[in-house]
Amino acid sequence: MPDLSSRHALLSERIRTACIAAQRDPNAVELLAVSKTKPPGLITEAVALGMTQFGENYLQEAVEKIQHLEQLSLEWHFIGRIQSNKCKTIANAFSWVQTLDRSKVAQRLNQFRTLTEPLNVLIQVNLDDDPNKGGVDKKNAEHLLEQVLTLPNLAPRGLMTILAKSTDSRVGYQSVAQLHHDLYEKYASDLPQWDTLSMGMSADIEAAINAGATMIRVGTDLFGARTI
Ligand SMILES: *Cc1c(COP(=O)(O)O)cnc(C)c1O
Repeated sequence: MPDLSSRHALLSERIRTACIAAQRDPNAVELLAVSKTKPPGLITEAVALGMTQFGENYLQEAVEKIQHLEQLSLEWHFIGRIQSNKCKTIANAFSWVQTLDRSKVAQRLNQFRTLTEPLNVLIQVNLDDDPNKGGVDKKNAEHLLEQVLTLPNLAPRGLMTILAKSTDSRVGYQSVAQLHHDLYEKYASDLPQWDTLSMGMSADIEAAINAGATMIRVGTDLFGARTI
């Protein structure tokens, strides 16, 4: 079985190649290492390889790892479905929340964030109306963004989307990805901190980079398959 170091080398090469093919700067695409279900020891190995940003979906598991690895001062991103009764914990345990898709959650995260730095948020959009995924449609994304802009403890940084499983023949990956990129670009000139389009996972890294992703979220191709 390949180890983390060789998987990471392979992944870095894939990112670089995809950027060159898309005529983009390889430094313009950030890697979020998705460490859900993986033990703290593996995260420590990833840190030794230079990774600093980690994504987690399950709150209880995440909080344990965050406490365990506190000394390393890593940047933790929450990328799971958000239950509103968990907002209090999420608001201060993470530096980023990528799955913001409703007003009530925005309000609660703002209310409970007590750290000096605002919580970075991405609005999760679901432009192909896939009922199996979270996320708001285009109109509601705009409403939600307007609301977030009034909340002092939240910093809107961009959009997040999950595309891989919805690559259906109806619209096609590139056209859906393009819609996300267009919506993202719409705000880029007005909001100085708006710098992140989180799109693409192990299976669709190349397509996402081609469509303008600035952050890819990779679990399987970095840490290996998840057994749970
Ligand atoms: C698990 C997960 C990923 C990583 O997916 P892989 O296919 O394992 O790379 C990315 N984004 C979200 C939102 C996830 O839940």
